Amino acid sequence: MKTRELVEIDERRLLRRLDELAQRGAMPGGGIYRALYTPAWTSATELVQGWMKDAGLLARRDAVGNVWGRMEASRGGRVIATGSHIDTVRGGGALDGALGVVAGVEAVASLVQNYGRPTRILECVAICEEEGSRFDTNFWGARGIADRIEPNEATRSRDADGVTLADAMRGVGLDPEKVSQAARRDIDIFVELHIEQGPILDEAEERLGIVKVIAGTAHLEVVVRGEADHAGATAMDRRRDALLGASEMTLAIAKAATDMGAPAVATVGTISVEPAQVNVVPGLARFTVDVRHSDDRLRRELVAEIERACKVIALERELRLSVHTLRDRPPVALNERVSDVLRRAARCFGAEPRDMTSGAGHDSQILATAASVGMLFVPSIGGRSHRGDEATAAEDVVLGTRVLATALHELAYGT
Ligand SMILES: [Zn+2]
Repeated sequence: MKTRELVEIDERRLLRRLDELAQRGAMPGGGIYRALYTPAWTSATELVQGWMKDAGLLARRDAVGNVWGRMEASRGGRVIATGSHIDTVRGGGALDGALGVVAGVEAVASLVQNYGRPTRILECVAICEEEGSRFDTNFWGARGIADRIEPNEATRSRDADGVTLADAMRGVGLDPEKVSQAARRDIDIFVELHIEQGPILDEAEERLGIVKVIAGTAHLEVVVRGEADHAGATAMDRRRDALLGASEMTLAIAKAATDMGAPAVATVGTISVEPAQVNVVPGLARFTVDVRHSDDRLRRELVAEIERACKVIALERELRLSVHTLRDRPPVALNERVSDVLRRAARCFGAEPRDMTSGAGHDSQILATAASVGMLFVPSIGGRSHRGDEATAAEDVVLGTRVLATALHELAYGT
């Protein structure tokens, strides 16, 4: 067996570029907001495209706005790619998505600098959108690549100001009629470096994780109907208060997930009532439930248990109930062969990576429908993410990037 290369990277350039990218969309009170097709987003994608050009890569923007940097190979064939998303949630941090983008450019740039032309085509990518923070859609960039954008989606989706996704595309010089041109059928392997966004690695004082499975998600909308009554004239025992029913349901939902045990999670993230008057008993309550599990059978079981518990409560309180599935995404297992490459690369640096489940969604779960995908985690300090103080120790950022580069070396520079 040949000696594996421990690929060197430019640590100072990596860390400096993470800081530079964090300036694009920095909010006055702290945190970052880089939403799809906004000026901050455009400025960030131009910055990354410049880095790709500096590395001698062929840089281009595809039909949905993903930015690709490509190094041709001596042998050609299907592509080895790495990257993550460049958009953020509102008030997000400097690493969610950004780490995988900056590290991807750094890994490919270092490989080309140190080893020249690869035997297999290498690409790095800044995926345009993953978070769903502006439009009522998410994984826009990865779904473009995987050819999973639905017809008319761009004209249907709107942001909070009523701007359609199609108009926002035109605003940055993209043609919404052409989204299908972003599809790639030539990607063999995709590797994503990402922060964990949870506390497991940090608490265990471990430095690397390999994602075996990305949890499946179900989103439910629950509508509870009772009767709107006068808050003064209706005695407590005569009420059919929709919000009281919904409140009891939220507790039952949390209990169902707790009883099932980790990694089951269930969250009531939004709730609203009608008529929403200070002196009226709520006649209607509407809330959403986000349910996740890495095991699809248990995920379905949890959804069924939540529906059952809500039904019992509605019956007891003489309320009408309707449950509507908004989204149903089964768990996605990542590729074992690619995971093995990442594991070997980690061991080159003396780190034994932990096998992990990702509770959060990632571009990798979409790209796994079009390529063999592997995913590497580095710790999030205190498990903090989707907030301005999201952080990872600089040495872990560097280690993750070196492991990524070493894995890409094995994949793209082999014989
Ligand atoms: Zn992310």
